[in-house]
Amino acid sequence: MTNKHSVRLNRELCVGCTNCIKKCPTGAIRVRSGKAQINEYRCIDCGECIRACPHHAKSASMDLISRLDFVDLQEDIVQGMRCASIETAEGLTHAILSPLSGTVIARNPDLGADPHIVEKDPYFAGWLYRVIPSNPEYELSHLTPCGSDTI
Ligand code: SF4
Ligand code: SF4
Repeated sequence: MTNKHSVRLNRELCVGCTNCIKKCPTGAIRVRSGKAQINEYRCIDCGECIRACPHHAKSASMDLISRLDFVDLQEDIVQGMRCASIETAEGLTHAILSPLSGTVIARNPDLGADPHIVEKDPYFAGWLYRVIPSNPEYELSHLTPCGSDTI
């Protein structure tokens, strides 16, 4: 797998305001010559900089999924940490961050044959895991609301 990130910058729209720098959890962004730059080795593809940009200078590359990597059954996953990876047709790797912590008890068997279901129907047929949550009372208050401006 590569370490290339999926965030695209429209340099004409970027004004170097540094809003995205403040939101990046890994310190992957710098502003050079008035334009944002991303260190692809630090970027975890969380999408925070896309949401933070008031000038719509950043967007997510919408490449077709070529492969999905899952964690094993009975493995523990952690809220906000990588629980699966998507590899795109052009070799980009995207991290999928887990919304909750818990133990994986099932994986979607349909995704092995057709990983594009995740793109087409992520909330229903494209489910990844069934999980026994370990701390739902606390973690439910930290869920990110779904919306059209999120990736
Ligand atoms: S996608 Fe996340 S980790 Fe990558 S540059 Fe943007 S804010 Fe930083
Ligand atoms: S928030 Fe947008 S306009 Fe500001 S530096 Fe980042 S990409 Fe450029």
